Amino acid sequence: MYEAAAYTGKWDQMMSPPGGSDSPLPAWASALQQAMAGHPAGDIVWHGSLAKYTTFNVGGRAEAIVFPTGRDELSQLIRSLHGLDVPWVILGRGSNVVIADAGLKGVVIVLGREFGEIEQVEDAAGSIVVRVEAGCSLAKLVSWAVERGLAGLEFAAGIPGSVGGAIVMNAGAWQREMKDVLLRVIIMDGQGAISAREVAAMHFAYRTWGEMQGAIALEGFFRLKKDNPVLLREMCKEYRQRRKMRQPQNMASGGSFFKNPPGGKTAGQLIDQAGLKGCLVGGAMVSTVHANFIVNTGSATARDIIDLMGMVQKVVYEKYGIALEPEVKILGLE
Ligand SMILES: Cc1cc2nc3c(=O)[nH]c(=O)nc-3n(C[C@H](O)[C@H](O)[C@H](O)COP(=O)(O)OP(=O)(O)OC[C@H]3O[C@@H](n4cnc5c(N)ncnc54)[C@H](O)[C@@H]3O)c2cc1C
Repeated sequence: MYEAAAYTGKWDQMMSPPGGSDSPLPAWASALQQAMAGHPAGDIVWHGSLAKYTTFNVGGRAEAIVFPTGRDELSQLIRSLHGLDVPWVILGRGSNVVIADAGLKGVVIVLGREFGEIEQVEDAAGSIVVRVEAGCSLAKLVSWAVERGLAGLEFAAGIPGSVGGAIVMNAGAWQREMKDVLLRVIIMDGQGAISAREVAAMHFAYRTWGEMQGAIALEGFFRLKKDNPVLLREMCKEYRQRRKMRQPQNMASGGSFFKNPPGGKTAGQLIDQAGLKGCLVGGAMVSTVHANFIVNTGSATARDIIDLMGMVQKVVYEKYGIALEPEVKILGLE
């Protein structure tokens, strides 16, 4: 693990760290800065801590965290990173990731407000198509739709994260998931090229969009239906209320940690029946409210969370012969 101090720059600045800094730029930084010269320039945080970009509040530093200002910059960035063989990963709101304490090599790309547009693009036969960029928060999209009396996304009320993260994870609740309302996704491939994919021809499944590693979800087209906004608001309120009653509140987590195994009992039921509620490893705990939530009690490290995950998997396997698979994405650990 490197103990570096973070500093912020743009592509055309910071060819050397600020005076007195003991944190050199990564070996590839100068070549990447040259490749990005003349392109729009969002902020870059060199050696930035990733913990604050995740809802678990754990994780070390990235060599660079980049906040692109738009598609041109993102496309040039992806092309350049590909050419230089520098690893990269996209982060939405970090609500479904555990990032290693040792941090991540290469570049973490955060799609934020600059990728946050929502617009209605089509209205035929009472059905409405809405185009949403990946950096928009899912909560904002749900409120936007409800205010306009557009039904279909109520199930997502209370799911944190970005629209891009929700597409990639095929986020869902109450027997509904993103693929049920998604028509089309605009993606960028690992060489920066943009194309459209029809959802019917994709491979969405339980908590996955089934696309190749290294593709970026840039925007989604959702098919919604006109309905009564008062009714929709009530449904969202009801779903949020149910979450409040069933899920730990004001505790850092990544939501449901494990996928539900096929058939029979949910992951939460298995963990609960195995007597693991309240189990602690360091600062990580199996929630006493919902057994499929691992929570950060305040001092957890990524290692604590991963060790607790391993313990839960071992006990559940020994008791029930069921191998629980994490839903949460673990980044930077073998
Ligand atoms: C309290 C709580 C409750 C939750 N409840 C639910 C629930 O009911 N249902 C549910 O399904 N999930 C739930 N989650 C999990 C999480 O909110 C969702 O999976 C969410 O959709 C993730 O979005 P994100 O932007 O935070 O993604 P991130 O956590 O930032 O990323 C998740 C994965 O997607 C990748 N990724 C993110 N954006 C993109 C993109 N644009 N292109 C390519 N890859 C990308 C990342 O690299 C990572 O592998 C919950 C989480 C919390 C903390």
